[in-house]
Amino acid sequence: MTKLLFQDDSYLRTFEAYIIEIIDDHVVLNQTAFAYMGGGLQSDSGFIKTQSGDKYEMLESYFKGGKVLHKLSQVPKESLLNEKVTCTLDWEKRYKQMRLHTALHSLSGLLFNKYGSTVTGGNITPEKSRVDFEIDHLRQERVEEIVSEINKILVGDHPVSISYMNRDDALKIPDLIRTKVNLIPESVKTIRIVEIKGVDMQADGGVHIANTKEIGEFVSLKSENRGKNNKRLYFTVKP
Ligand SMILES: [Zn+2]
Repeated sequence: MTKLLFQDDSYLRTFEAYIIEIIDDHVVLNQTAFAYMGGGLQSDSGFIKTQSGDKYEMLESYFKGGKVLHKLSQVPKESLLNEKVTCTLDWEKRYKQMRLHTALHSLSGLLFNKYGSTVTGGNITPEKSRVDFEIDHLRQERVEEIVSEINKILVGDHPVSISYMNRDDALKIPDLIRTKVNLIPESVKTIRIVEIKGVDMQADGGVHIANTKEIGEFVSLKSENRGKNNKRLYFTVKP
């Protein structure tokens, strides 16, 4: 089982690990800070360097068959099994995704607290984020209001904390019920909680920044009406 370093420290950009399995052009590491694809976020990418100086591009990581697979640009040498490697993330890509991700959670808190609106989906790329939510209308004046309100929240000092809670306790917390903690498979007994102080609380496995102040300015790109109660907003964040 690979230790998920990124779940406890989203700011880890370089780390050492051992290659514990090689499957064609994929490797499994004993621990990884390469966040894998999921939760609406794209996978990290970066480099894996061997002790003899060989450098492999790490194209994407994903979770499959109970393993975190790291896809490399070429099939690695068999002799690398059990070898120690040094791994480096594409930090620019990761950091942008962290900022967009925490912005998305902050927006989710705002939409619920101000409009009683529930987020039903979302997707993040390093360039922009998409969020779907249930609300009666999303006319221009409301988009402007949301942008203004979310920017007030983001410049405030809201630390983001990660904690763990057992499933039974998590199922009793209103914010977690609202964000459908009950949909997490029952086999998961410990729930990872991401709390943006005073703004939002969700069960979540992804990478986040440490404080909303780091996000920058929230900018709306486009809004779409996708049905009676289903609206979509594309946004990005600027430094
Ligand atoms: Zn999330």
